[in-house]
This record gives sequence, C-alpha cells and structure tokens, in this order.
Amino acid sequence: MLAFEFHSPEQEIIFPLYKQKGIRVFVKRDDLIHPYISGNKWRKLKYPVNQAKKQNKQRLITFGGAWSNHLLATAAAGATFGFKTVGFVRGEQVENTVLKLCQLFGMELRFVSREAYKNKLLLFEENYGLDSLALYIAEGGYSRQGALGCSAIIHELTRSYDRIYCACGTGTTLAGLQNGVKECKLESTIIGVPVLKGANFLHDEIKKLNVAENNELTLLLDYHFGGYAKTTPELISFVKNFTQKTGIMIEPTYTGKLFYALHDQIESDKIAPGSTILALHTGGLTGILGVLDKF
Ligand SMILES: *Cc1c(COP(=O)(O)O)cnc(C)c1O
Repeated sequence: MLAFEFHSPEQEIIFPLYKQKGIRVFVKRDDLIHPYISGNKWRKLKYPVNQAKKQNKQRLITFGGAWSNHLLATAAAGATFGFKTVGFVRGEQVENTVLKLCQLFGMELRFVSREAYKNKLLLFEENYGLDSLALYIAEGGYSRQGALGCSAIIHELTRSYDRIYCACGTGTTLAGLQNGVKECKLESTIIGVPVLKGANFLHDEIKKLNVAENNELTLLLDYHFGGYAKTTPELISFVKNFTQKTGIMIEPTYTGKLFYALHDQIESDKIAPGSTILALHTGGLTGILGVLDKF
C-alpha cells in the first residue's frame, strides 16, 4: 500500500432547520485527506497508483478540463509517489491557477482540440501506445478500480446512517458507495446529486462500475443549477452561508450543489424525522478559484 492512509472523520453539523425537523446530519470530511490529492480523487487514484508502482510504470497519463480537480490530484499524486505525469487538457491553450498548480507538481500539460479530446483512448494509443512504462488513467478516475477505492469510505464509517448523499460527476464515487454498502451489509440508501444537466445516463455508467448486482439507485436530477460548473446567485449565497455557519468550506461546482440539495430535501420534508444522514464532502476546494469573481 501507499505511504499514506487516512481515515477521514465524520463531523456533525447543526443548523436550526435540521434540529427543527429532527434530522441529524454528519459530514464525512474527505476534503481533509490531502489539500491537492483531494477527497474522492485520492480514493479513485489509490488503486491505479498502486498498480503503477507494482508494474514499475514511470508515467501516469490522464485527461481533464481546464479546471479539473482530477488533473491536479494526479499531478500531486505523481509528485508524491514518484511518477512523471502528463495531462491532456480539453480545448485551446489557456492559463489558470489550477493548471499552474498542476505544473508546479511537475505535470506536463498537452492541450488538445475538443474533437481530438473525445477519443481519449486513441490519444493515449497515438502518443503512448508503444510506451510500456505509461499508465492510462481515465478522465475523472472513472473506473472499477476507482469505485473500489471509494467503497472504503463505507468501511470506515463509525455509525450507521439512514441515507448517504454524494455529488456525482462520472458516478464512480456513487458506485463505490453502493458496493461498500453491499459489502458491509448495511441498509443505508445512497443518493446521488449529479452536478451536470440531463444526468440520466449516469444510471448506465454506474451500473458498468458496480460489482454488486441489482442496485437501486436514487439520483436527484434537479440540482444542477444549469449544468456542469454553472452557478446562480442563490447557489453562491448558499455556499457562503454554509461555509460561514459551519467552518467547513464548500464550493459551487460539486459540494455546494450537494449540500444545497440536502438542505432543500430537509426543508421540503422529503426526509423522515428521526433520520441520521451522512453527506460526503468530496473535497475539490481548488475549484472555487475559478468562480471567486462571483463571490
Ligand atoms: C470529481 C469530483 C466529484 C465527482 O465524482 P465522481 O466520482 O466522478 O462522480 C465530486 N466532488 C468533487 C469535489 C469532485 O472533485
């Protein structure tokens, strides 16, 4: 196993609304795992990085958009565990704080057209197909190995929860949570909050990653705020208020939408009184750097 193992704590947060509705809410603080190999990205990279070590690979090759938490996590993991990293970035060449941080950790950035970016396996084959020391890591860490890394979240829990909420991009984290619940024989319902619009396709994507059969899956499809990385003044003000009242920083792209959805469900009596809820803080706080001008 890799050099650092970290069991993130579960911390209760208290809002008058939660009290009034008789609901307890805990946050699993995966944001505390590492400042840059953050949250679920660390979980998803753990097995690929272990595999790379075992197979004596020297390069991790991966993919992401210009504000990708996954690119930054891969760059930082590469620096930590002794790999060179290459990030294929979608779209024309740009500069931003997240990409600068990727470079600080030694990642080589290769900008590719949106057209070329669509076929990532081909990009890998064309550039590293003959390089036996290079390991392909899927965009966003979407993989069975990634889901396996995320099922550990459930194994670490110190109390039982009626519902577990998480934000969804590729759905890898959610698939892992579902597998974890099966493995631990728990009754918790897993609820995903997709951050992109029209995320019904996630049902299939998550099925492909699930080792466990016949999982029921609840996705709350109406909390995307217009789509991936889209935000509204209402969401921004929610993020501010949450951060100021709890001391737990969230951001608008993922965790803001997650906690907003949870708050809204509690407010509109979608959750039974007496329930104990866990929300997974998946980290990714550098994402806020891209929207700070909205605050
Ligand atoms: C990448 C990311 C997600 C999405 O996770 P998936 O496993 O792709 O669904 C959620 N939250 C944060 C903070 C992320 O950076």
